[in-house]
This record gives sequence, structure tokens and C-alpha cells, in this order.
Amino acid sequence: MMPGKKRVVVIGGGIAGMGVAHALMDKAAEAVEVTVVTKDPFYMTGPSRPLLLTNEQSYDRMIRGYEEAARRGIKFVFGTVRAVDPAERIVEIVESPTRPATVNRVEYDYLVVAPGVVLDGNGIEGYRENWWRNANVYEPGRVDVLKQRIWTAEQGAVIVYAPRQPYRCAPAPAETAMAIYTVLKHRGVEKNFRIIHVDANDKPQPPPIADVIKQRYEQAGIELITSREITEVGPDYVVLNDGERLEYTILAMLEPNRAPRFIEEAGLGEKWFEVRSPQDLRSPKYDDVLAAGDVAKLPFPKNQEIAYESALFAANKLLEMLGVGVEPFSAQYAFLGWAYLGNLEGKLETESVQFGLNFTTKPPKASKDPVPKKDYTLQKDRWEQSYLNRLYHPKPM
Ligand SMILES: Cc1cc2nc3c(=O)[nH]c(=O)nc-3n(C[C@H](O)[C@H](O)[C@H](O)COP(=O)(O)OP(=O)(O)OC[C@H]3O[C@@H](n4cnc5c(N)ncnc54)[C@H](O)[C@@H]3O)c2cc1C
Repeated sequence: MMPGKKRVVVIGGGIAGMGVAHALMDKAAEAVEVTVVTKDPFYMTGPSRPLLLTNEQSYDRMIRGYEEAARRGIKFVFGTVRAVDPAERIVEIVESPTRPATVNRVEYDYLVVAPGVVLDGNGIEGYRENWWRNANVYEPGRVDVLKQRIWTAEQGAVIVYAPRQPYRCAPAPAETAMAIYTVLKHRGVEKNFRIIHVDANDKPQPPPIADVIKQRYEQAGIELITSREITEVGPDYVVLNDGERLEYTILAMLEPNRAPRFIEEAGLGEKWFEVRSPQDLRSPKYDDVLAAGDVAKLPFPKNQEIAYESALFAANKLLEMLGVGVEPFSAQYAFLGWAYLGNLEGKLETESVQFGLNFTTKPPKASKDPVPKKDYTLQKDRWEQSYLNRLYHPKPM
């Protein structure tokens, strides 16, 4: 390391962590050594995972390595962070199965915590025995299981579940329900199934497009139960918090989300990483520890756009503290997004609804085009690929 360079360690090589790493390399490469500590030696994008169910997306377009980012000088350590000691400025790492961590302790001058979320079903009775009966779109292995189940089952009941907010990616449960309907309809077996979406929130998420989702559900015959939580999972049933019992043959439940445990153990927050404000993402206790991405306790939805904007705010604060005298990045909490809402005719051509949320105004301003279109699905693909190309590396089409 060049003398005088500050060591910035970033936990998590996802959207927010890589956003911070590149931002620092763009504006302060002379002043910092950036090391990203991340679990796997590859990244798999989240947004298009529901399209794996309908065969409209393939894994090869979703996965990227870190080699090209390393080429520009970002350092990488592959392993799982198990502890942070903010008083001693040390991060402890457990080796990853395929790339043994070359070090198991990294020291920092500044730390950015961006590991995303953990899905935690432990508060649900019966979850520990029956977790394997559940499959959803949130993890690569599980989306594969869900896909197999919906492409082979002949009859039954599907339960899709959204826990209480905040959870990662508001529309994903509705996207899951509509993708499942599309596949069943495509196979000509949809009449043999009940599809039930149970939502712990008072409407399907996100609220600005709840009316469009409800209309789509009515057209597809999907039942919607709101403001109720799943409190128990049995071998072929779930129990809701008002005692109602619903039978399932396919369960696609998103577990409640929280920050990884090492954050609470380091005193950086309980369920989420506490920050000073959405613009100042430092821990209230430590000037040199910042959060970015879904792990941060922010009054906004947990999605990629918000995660990336928070990364720019975190980078701006670091640039300010480093005193490098550069213009800050322009950042704001506002985004345009797309929710996949399946295909009512059972064609494997998903239509999406476009919506926007702007949190820079009070109250926040919502907008949408209420008509789902295939073009928006393509637009979402371009948006997702542009993130992957920018933060990891472009793929020849
Ligand atoms: C199914 C699905 C659909 C989604 N749809 C959309 C959408 O339509 N629109 C949208 O804007 N967003 C969507 N998202 C959300 C979006 O992917 C996330 O909001 C975004 O990736 C958050 O960025 P992050 O950097 O905080 O977390 P991530 O991108 O998840 O990155 C976290 C990284 O940290 C690593 N990590 C975790 N724990 C540790 C540890 N202990 N030690 C070391 N490394 C660790 C992880 O392996 C990962 O590489 C979706 C997500 C999913 C899963």
C-alpha cells in the first residue's frame, strides 16, 4: 500500500458494496486502498430471478465474477464476515468453500457495511422442521426448486407469502404469484390449482401499484389475503395469526428479513444497521463505520436503486472525511421500477408495470403507467444488465 493511503474495507460485493468501491476508485484512487470482502467469488443479480420460473431468464446472464473489477485496482477477499470489532477496527473472516480467504482478519481505517439481508424464518413455528418444503424466488437454489415444482405438479394449492415490510424488493411476492399462474396456465393446468397470496401488509406491495396487482389477481383468479401473518408452517398447511389454517401443496413464502447477526453483535443496530440519516450513513456510534444498501435502516423500500443511491451517499461522506477535495456524486432517493405481472394468456412473455417513487418531495411522489406491457419487461432487463455491466463486467450479447 502506498504510504498515506487510507484502508477502506467494504463488506459485501453486491450492488451497494461495489457501488461504493467504484465510486471511491473514480474519485479518490490516489488516496485509498479499497478492499471488498465478500462471501462468494461471484455475484448473482436479484431482480430478474422471477423470470427464471417462466424460462425468460437464464443463469448465465445473471452471474458475474470480480476479475474485471480487480483489474482496475479494487482488492478482493472472498470469505464470510463473522465479526466486526469497531473499537479495534478489525473485520474477521471465515474462509469461503471455493476460495480460501488469504487472510482471516482485515484492518481498516474506514469500514462500509453492505452485506444485504438475511431471510429469517426462525420466528415461525414449525419452520425448522419444514423449511425445505418452502421454495421462493429469492435464492438461486430455491428458485430452481420452485421452478421444478410448478412445472411438474398437476393439482393443488399454492401459497405465496410476503412478510411485513421492510423486506427486500416489494413486488417480488406478487411477481412470484403471477409467474406461477403464467406457468400453470401455459401448462393448461391452472384450473386444478388455488393460488393464494397471503400478505402481512395491508395491501400487496408496493402500495402505488396495489390496484394494478389486485386487478391482475382478479383476472387470474388469484386469492388475496392481506394484513395477516403466517405464524406456523406444517407439512402441508400454514396457520395465520388469526388462527385460519390454509392447506398448500406448493409453498413460496418469503421469510421476514433482517441484517446479518454480526451487525447486532458489533453494536451497530438491532434488526438493521442504524444510521445517522439517509444522507449521512455513518453509525451514530462510530465516525469510521458506514452502512450502504439493504442492510441500512432507511425509511425507504429495500431495492437496488435505493441501495445504489445509498452507496453514493456513503461514498460522498467518505470523500468528505478523506478530505480529497472532489465534487460529490449527485445522489437522490428516487427511482423508476418495473414489476413483472405475468401473462394472463399463459404465454411465456411476461408483461410488467412501470412505477416510480420520489422521496425527495414531501410527501413522496408516486407515479405509474397502470397498463402492464412486455416492453417494460425488456426495459427492466436493460436496466439490470447495465448495473451488472457497470459494476462487474459487460457480457457480449
Ligand atoms: C428475487 C429478487 C427480486 C428483486 N427485484 C428487484 C427489482 O425488481 N428492483 C429492484 O430495484 N431491486 C430488486 N431486488 C433487490 C435488489 O437485488 C437489492 O435491493 C440489492 O441487491 C441490494 O444491494 P445490497 O448491496 O444491499 O445487497 P446485495 O446486492 O445482496 O449484496 C450483498 C453482498 O454481500 C454478500 N454478503 C452477505 N453477507 C456477507 C457476509 N457475512 N460476509 C461477506 N459477504 C457477505 C452477499 O453474498 C452479496 O454478494 C430484488 C432482489 C431479489 C432477491
